[in-house]
Formats: sequence, C-alpha cells, structure tokens
Amino acid sequence: MNITILGSTGSIGTQALQVVDDLKGTKDISVLAISGNSNTELLEQQARKYNTKYAVVADENKYSDLKNRLADTDIKVLCGEEGLCTASTLGGVDMVLSSIVGFAGLVPTMKAIESGKDIALANKETLVTAGALFTDAVEKYGVRLLPVDSEHSAIFQSMHGGAEKEVRKILLTASGGPFFGKTRDELTEIRKEQALKHPNWSMGAKITIDSATLMNKGLEIIEAKWLFDVDIEDIEVVVHRESIIHSMVEFVDKSVIAQLSLPSMKHPIQYAFTYPERLPSPDSSVSFSQIGKMTFFEPDEETFRCLALAKKAGRMGGTMPTVLNAANEVAVSAFLHDKIGFLDIADFVEKVMDSYKNKLNPTIEDIIMTDKSVREEYRI
Ligand code: NAD
Ligand code: MG
Repeated sequence: MNITILGSTGSIGTQALQVVDDLKGTKDISVLAISGNSNTELLEQQARKYNTKYAVVADENKYSDLKNRLADTDIKVLCGEEGLCTASTLGGVDMVLSSIVGFAGLVPTMKAIESGKDIALANKETLVTAGALFTDAVEKYGVRLLPVDSEHSAIFQSMHGGAEKEVRKILLTASGGPFFGKTRDELTEIRKEQALKHPNWSMGAKITIDSATLMNKGLEIIEAKWLFDVDIEDIEVVVHRESIIHSMVEFVDKSVIAQLSLPSMKHPIQYAFTYPERLPSPDSSVSFSQIGKMTFFEPDEETFRCLALAKKAGRMGGTMPTVLNAANEVAVSAFLHDKIGFLDIADFVEKVMDSYKNKLNPTIEDIIMTDKSVREEYRI
C-alpha cells in the first residue's frame, strides 16, 4: 500500500510512521509523500528515512530551507496549500492519512477524496466544519473513510457487532481531561502549563486544550454524527477516567459492544492502515487485574460549557459548526499565547456563535468564507 501522510511531523503523524515500521514484513507500506507546517529538520529526516517522493512544508517561508536540506536527493520539495494538495492527490497513492490539525486540513483532504484516495481521518475539524460535503464526496467518489480518532475507531469496530438499523445509541467515552471534578471557580486561574498536562494521552497542543475544555468531546459528537449517520441525541457522552474503553455501541436488544485497549493512538492508526484485517502489534496487552477497576460518570456540561456549545452547533447544522470550530481555534491559540483565560474559551465561542446568522446547506466556498470571516473579525 502507498500512502501520503499529511501532518507527518505531528503527534499522530510520527506515531503513524512508527506503525509503518511496526508493520514491516506483515504489511509493507510505502510513504510516498509527507508534510509538515514548519519543522524542516524533522521533515528532512523523515523524507530520507522513508525515501519519499515528495516532502511538503506548508509554511512558504521554509521552502528554500527544506529544498537546501534535500538538495542531494531526488525528493521533490513543495510548499503551501498547493503543495499539500499535490501530495494528497498523487498518482499511485492508495490512502491519505489526514493528520493536519485544524481547518488547514480541509482542502487537501477534500482533494484527496475527489481523486479517489481512501482516507484515514485524524483531522476531526474537517469533518466538523464540512460534514455534509465531506460525506457526500466520500459517497460520490466511492472512497473508504476510516476513523483514526480512538473513540470513532472503537465505534467503527463495535458497529461490526450488529446491523446499522439495529444500533440504538452510541456511548462516546471521555477521559474527562485534567480538570475533571473541578468547579468553575477553581478553573478561573488555570494556566496553559496545567491544561497541557493530560492524564492519559500525549497529543498535540490544540487537542490537549480541547480535551481540557471538553470541546474535543463536542467536536467528536459532531464527528460521530457524520461518520455513523446518527442523531446528536443518540450520542451519549460517558466520562471514563481510565481510557481503556474507547467507546461503545448499544444495540436495540440493549446489548453493548465496546472496544478496549491501552490508551495508544497506534491502535486506531494501525487498524485504519490494515482494515479489514487485524495484524499483530508490538504494543502491550490490557492487564485487567492491574487496572483493577473502571469508573464512569456523567459529564459536567455546566462547568465545561464547550461541550454544550458543540452539541448546539451540531444540532443547528449549516455553517454553525464551522463558526464553532473557527472560534475555538482562535480562542485556543489565544489561550496558548497567554492572551485569554481558560474559561474565556467557552465565552468567546458562545459570543461568536451568537453573532453569526446560520446558513443552511453551505457550499465549500461558504464554509471557507465563514471560517475566514471568523478569524478576521474576531482576532484576539
Ligand atoms: P500536532 O499539533 O501534533 O500535529 C499537527 C500536524 O499538522 C503537524 O505535522 C503540523 O506541522 C501540521 N500543521 C499544523 N498547522 C498546519 C497548517 N496550517 N498547514 C499545514 N500543516 C499544519 O497535532 P496532533 O495531535 O497530531 O493532531 C492532529 C489531528 O489529529 C488533529 O485534528 C487532532 O484533533 C487529531 N487527533 C489527534 C490525536 C492525538 O492523540 N494526537 C487523537 C485523536 C485525534
Ligand atoms: Mg478522540
């Protein structure tokens, strides 16, 4: 199998390359193209190690640096959105791992679908912002859309336990993040250093903050709605502190099927790469006696208001999920730059959502314009 990895320098991208190494000998995967935003040193290393055909740096100012670094090789160096789209539509590529963070992944991922590539999707923001267009394109071009997000991979795997019409509801598990059980008062003084310490997962900065605000779970509800064609009302969030059950599906007979494994993104990445097969993994087994107990709680939507806001945007549909996502990206970036406080993230998202008139059945241009307008009008 030949793949392109969009976002190869990130948390998901680097773990995906480890999975490529792990699978050597059982399933040979050639990495034809990789991309990163600006880390040219890592891009160079990866391009040389995997002998890729293309290496793309999204930041155009870094183009000559990467070009110089790879001058003694045949590897083609590209930059910008155009370069990302060349990598995602490359002839001979079977699957594109979409693991850029945020809205920036939308256009290259859509182009990959339109050129018939199967998609392994980590970049949930693209599905949140353009769910209807995205899933229509997947159907139109007959490509496979394989979830990489651990919860969605778990739901996908659990769905094999029955027919689609037999599904009653989805139980989406959440770790609860680093601030589980805290009150709003206790959250006013939270600094980014505390929010960046996730109890169970090591991830990129943006999703780590989203996990602390529970916006991540909100985005995942919208992601599940599109991936599995279910109503928001039929998705229940269950806080499960140990992150062993990655999500569950309840069927009409009230049987619940779940997928369990230790918290490692290499599981869902590997399943997306090998589906419909399961191949051996060097990762550790779950030791139930060592875990001892598993706990479950209801989420606190009053303290973690981002979850409620995401549900609201998901129910409204149209351009509202795009507004929610863009406002959240602006707010998270501001929080990471110490410009706003932790609780301001939800306040900001709510303010921006209230100020926008929803447009139903948006085109891709409407979505791109809406995203741009939020970022320009509400710069922090
Ligand atoms: P990350 O920040 O570690 O990596 C992001 C990647 O995207 C990097 O390669 C970066 O260079 C690239 N990138 C950033 N901005 C870009 C831009 N403007 N243009 C082009 N490339 C750009 O993030 P991550 O944690 O790997 O997450 C990637 C995606 O996967 C996110 O959508 C996240 O929600 C999703 N996801 C991540 C995890 C996880 O465990 N890390 C789990 C589930 C889902
Ligand atoms: Mg997840």
